[in-house]
This record gives sequence, structure tokens and C-alpha cells, in this order.
Amino acid sequence: MSENSRRFERRYARDQANECLRFLSRRTWRVVYIDMFNRPKSCRPYDLSPGAVGTCDYEEKTLFIDYRHDVMSTLIHELIHARYPNKTEKEVGRLEKLIMRYLTPGQAVQLHLAMSAVLDTPDEQDE
Ligand SMILES: [Zn+2]
Repeated sequence: MSENSRRFERRYARDQANECLRFLSRRTWRVVYIDMFNRPKSCRPYDLSPGAVGTCDYEEKTLFIDYRHDVMSTLIHELIHARYPNKTEKEVGRLEKLIMRYLTPGQAVQLHLAMSAVLDTPDEQDE
């Protein structure tokens, strides 16, 4: 890859990370930490694969994240699903990896802080 296209790729990845941050900062979606293996009923299975560590609930505007795994990459993955509902799983996975490759420490901090403002536990009846 040429230096120019690498620069372009890095710019694109960081722009997309900022878009995820803007989306999360609107506070219209919440993030719920769950144990995916014993996941609560409120976390509907959608098209969950057996190894899934997160899921995106469009109706409830909730991102479910298994806190026992890599929270940052899962958060970014589910944010991409939420922000771009028409992207395929493959496209989401590719963009997640690209964002993770170029994510700056500052962007990681901002994403953590924005997530903490909307972070919750599963509804009580599930526990
Ligand atoms: Zn996915």
C-alpha cells in the first residue's frame, strides 16, 4: 500500500471513529453490559452467532455488550450496526477492524466516556 493510500485509509478510519462517537454522544441509544452466555431475556437473539460477544437491538435502541470480552472493539462493532443498519455483517466487521487499527488513544477515551454516560445493566426482571 502506498504512503498516500495509507494516509487516506487512516483518515477514513478516524473519521468513522468520530462518526461512531457522535452517534453515541446523542444519547438516544443505551449500552447494556451482559454476560452473553447467560444473556437476559431482554437481549433478543436476532441473528446471533454462537461466538457473538455483542448485539444491536434496533427496536430498543440498545447495544448489548459482553463485558468479559474486548469492550472497545465490540462497542465499535455494534455502533457501526446501529449507525449503518444496511451494512452487511462482513462490511461491519471490516470497518470495525479498520477503525481499531487506527483508533487514537484520545478517541478511545472519548468513546469510553460517551459510553459511560449511557451504560446500564439489564432490566431487573431479567436478573
Ligand atoms: Zn455484527
